[in-house]
Amino acid sequence: MRIFDPHIHMTSRTTDDYQAMYDAGVRALVEPSFWLGQPRTSPASFFDYFDALLGWEPFRAAQYGIAHHCTIALNPKEANDPRCAPVLDALPRYLVKDSVVAVGEIGYDSMTPAEDTALAAQLQLAADHGLPALVHTPHRDKLAGLRRTLDVVRESHLPPERVLLDHLNETTVKEATDSGAWLGFSIYPDTKMDEDRMVAILKAYGTERVLVNSAADWGKSDPLKTRKVGDAMLAAGFSDDDVDQVLWRNPVAFYGLSGRLPLDLPTPGALHEGNSILRGGE
Ligand SMILES: [Zn+2]
Repeated sequence: MRIFDPHIHMTSRTTDDYQAMYDAGVRALVEPSFWLGQPRTSPASFFDYFDALLGWEPFRAAQYGIAHHCTIALNPKEANDPRCAPVLDALPRYLVKDSVVAVGEIGYDSMTPAEDTALAAQLQLAADHGLPALVHTPHRDKLAGLRRTLDVVRESHLPPERVLLDHLNETTVKEATDSGAWLGFSIYPDTKMDEDRMVAILKAYGTERVLVNSAADWGKSDPLKTRKVGDAMLAAGFSDDDVDQVLWRNPVAFYGLSGRLPLDLPTPGALHEGNSILRGGE
C-alpha cells in the first residue's frame, strides 16, 4: 500500500514516527504550517518556522525515505493577533519556493473579522501564485463554519476545484461535496473522525476527490491513521485500486495542481547547513 499523508505536522513528531510511517507505506507527505500551541509574538518566529518546513524537515524526512512538501500561510488562530498579521505581507516570498505546494492551512477558527481578512487575502495569494489552497474548517460549530468558508471561497478568485476543505465529517460532507471542492478528512484517535466512520462516508459518497489524513501534531494523534483507513477499507470490501485512489492518487492530483510535485525522493543529504542529524558530530 503506497500512502501520501496530505496533512501531518512532522515538526511535532519523532524519528520513531518517521520509521513507523515508512514501514506502513508512507512515501510522501504534506506538512501544513500551523499554530504551534505556544503563541508567537513576532513575524520573525514564523519565518524561522517556514524556513524549517522548507529546509530542516524535508532533510529529516529524506533520511527515512519520505518525500516532504509543505503549505505556507498565516494560520487562522494567530491571524487574530495583530503582532502576527504582518506575516501576510511576507508570504509571497515563500509561495514561490519549489516545495510549497499550496497556501495553507487557512480558514476559520473563531470566525472573527480578522480571520475574514486573512482568509480572503490568502485565497487571493493562492490565485495569484497559481497554487491550490488547504482550507481548515472549524472544529466548533462545524456546519455554520463550513457555510461561511464556502461563501468566502465563492467570492474569491480561486475556483472551488483548487480548494481542499479539511476536517470534514458527517455533518459537513454533503455541502462540501456539492461545492465542487476536494474533501479532506482527519482521522484522530478519540475525537472527530475514526476509521470506521471514514469507511461509512466512503461507502455513501464514493472515493472521488476524497483525501484522508492523520493531521498528527503535538496533541494526541496517530501518524499511522492513513494506513489504518486503508486496512479498514480493504476489510469493508473496497479494492486495492480504491485504496490507492484515496491514499495516493487523490492527494497527488490535488497538490499536483501546484505544478510542483516531484515525487522522486531526493538522495538523503548528510548535512543540512553544516549540521547532521547526529547533533553536529560526524
Ligand atoms: Zn493541521
